[in-house]
Amino acid sequence: MAKKKVESCAFCGRPANQSEVMIPSGINPDVFLCAECADAIHDILGEFRGTSKEKNKNESSLELKEIPKPKEICKFLDQYVIGQESAKRYLSVAVYNHYKRLSQPREDDVDIEKSNIIIVGPTGTGKTLLAKTIARMLDVPFTIVDATVLTQAGYVGEDIESLLTRLLQAADYDVAKAERGIVFIDEIDKIARKGDNPSITRDVSGEGVQQGLLKLLEGSIVNVPPQGGRKHPEQRMIPVDTKNILFICGGAFDGIERKIAQRLNTHVVGYSIDQARQRINRDNYLSYVAPQDLKSFGLIPEIIGRLPILTHLDPLDRDALRRVLTEPKNAITRQYEKLFAIDGVKLKFEPEALDMIVDKAIEYKLGARGLRAIVETVMIDSMFELPSTQKKTFTVTAGYVLDKLQSSHYELNKNLDIKE
Ligand code: ADP
Repeated sequence: MAKKKVESCAFCGRPANQSEVMIPSGINPDVFLCAECADAIHDILGEFRGTSKEKNKNESSLELKEIPKPKEICKFLDQYVIGQESAKRYLSVAVYNHYKRLSQPREDDVDIEKSNIIIVGPTGTGKTLLAKTIARMLDVPFTIVDATVLTQAGYVGEDIESLLTRLLQAADYDVAKAERGIVFIDEIDKIARKGDNPSITRDVSGEGVQQGLLKLLEGSIVNVPPQGGRKHPEQRMIPVDTKNILFICGGAFDGIERKIAQRLNTHVVGYSIDQARQRINRDNYLSYVAPQDLKSFGLIPEIIGRLPILTHLDPLDRDALRRVLTEPKNAITRQYEKLFAIDGVKLKFEPEALDMIVDKAIEYKLGARGLRAIVETVMIDSMFELPSTQKKTFTVTAGYVLDKLQSSHYELNKNLDIKE
C-alpha cells in the first residue's frame, strides 16, 4: 500500500513540516496530531489531575508504600542526630503513624487519631534538629515557630493563627500541601500558666495562648491571614484544615526535674521504697517525665491531652559532644573540611584538638550550640590567611585551638567571671 502523505494536524491545522513529529491516529490513517498539541494536552491534563488530586486529598493522599518505615526514619535521624535514642524511637513511630493516618480512606470506620508530639529536653540537645531532620526526610512543608511571640487574639504580639501563615508560606501557598505539613512549636514551656490561680489576672501569653492552640492541635478549620498579623484587616483569609497537620512541640521546661523528683519520691512511699528508689537514675530525672509533670509545670490538661506522645531528650555528655563534632552527616568539622577543600587545602583536625574544643565547650557552658562558635573562632585566622598562600595542607592541633581561644573573647569573659 502506498504511504499516505501527512498533511496537517487534525487538531490545530499546523502543517506537518512545522512540527517535530506527527502522531498518527490508531483508527484513521489520515488523522494526525502534532507534537505541540500533544504537549499542550499533556500540560492541561497535568493541571487537571493536580487539582482533582487536591479535591480528593482526603480519600487517598499518600501511598503507604512511599512512607518510610519507623526503622528507616530512625536510621535517617541517626545520620544527623547523635544519641537521643528514646526520642528518635518515639518520633519515628509517631511520624509513621501520622502518615498512615493520612493514607487512611475517609470512609474507614476506625478513625485513627492524631498523634502530636511533645519533646522535653534541655536547650541545645537537638529538639529543633530532630524536627528539621524529619521534615527533610519526608519532604513536607515545615515551619518552626516560637511560642513566646504568640498572644491571645486581640493583644500585642502574634495571633495564634500566624503559625499557620508560616506553614502556608513554606508550602508556597499550596493549601493542600500545607494541610499535611509539620509545625514545630518551640519553647512551649514558655506559655505555661503563670501561677496556680488562673483567675487573678488575664494571662494573655500563657493560658490564653494554650486555649487558642487547642483548636489548632485537635484539628479544625482555621482562617489564616495569608500575610500574617492583624495589620491588614482587609486581607482575604485562607481556610486551612489542621486535622492532618502534625504538631511537634518542644521545650526545656526548666526546673521540671524537681517536679518529677517530687512525684517519684512521694509515689514510692509505702511500697518497697528502697528497691524502687534504687532503680531511679538520679542523673536524669527527665527520662521519667509524665503528663502530670507537664500539668504541674503549668500546661493545661486539654493541651496535654492533645499532645499524646511525650518524650524526652538526654543532656549531651562529653562523649556525645565529641561525636556531634565529627559524626553527623553535616558535622561541623566536615563542613570546614569542605570549605578548605574548595581552596584545594586538605584540612585535618587532630583528635586532641577535637577533645580540646569539647573541653572548652563544657568549660564555657555552651553545650552543642557553642561548638560551632568555638570552631569558628579557632578557624577564623586560617580562613583569612590560607587562601593567599600556597599551602596545601593544614592541621589543627590542640595547641593551635588553645592559642586561638586564649586570645578570644571566650577566655576574656571567663576571667571576668560574668554572672549569668
Ligand atoms: P534545641 O534542643 O534547643 O532545639 P537544637 O536542636 O537547635 O537545640 O540544637 C542546636 C545545635 O546543636 C544544632 O544545630 C546542632 O548543630 C547541635 N546539636 C544539638 N544536639 C545535637 C545532637 N543530639 N546531635 C547532633 N547535633 C546536635
